[in-house]
Amino acid sequence: MSKLMKAAVYIEPGRIVLEDRPMPEIGPLDALMRVTTTTICGTDIHILEGEHPVESGRIIGHEPVGVIESLALPSLATRKASAPSQGLSRPAAGQTPA
Ligand SMILES: [Zn+2]
Repeated sequence: MSKLMKAAVYIEPGRIVLEDRPMPEIGPLDALMRVTTTTICGTDIHILEGEHPVESGRIIGHEPVGVIESLALPSLATRKASAPSQGLSRPAAGQTPA
């Protein structure tokens, strides 16, 4: 059984619900981030008000801050760790996230 995560899901204008969804499998160039902080933005408000068409069931939200839990390419952590201006929290090279 796969792990579950919480997702904000658009249902219809005026209705966004929090649902359990399966954790995604990461692809060869992906990272999996545990969201620690998030917010809404103008796009989310337009979606909620039905002004920006979105299909029912779509997971919305695109303003997260979090911790990288896993990388498909571990060598990416080493390269990205030398660029702290990205504003992302990540484990140091060779460390496992807590
Ligand atoms: Zn936004």
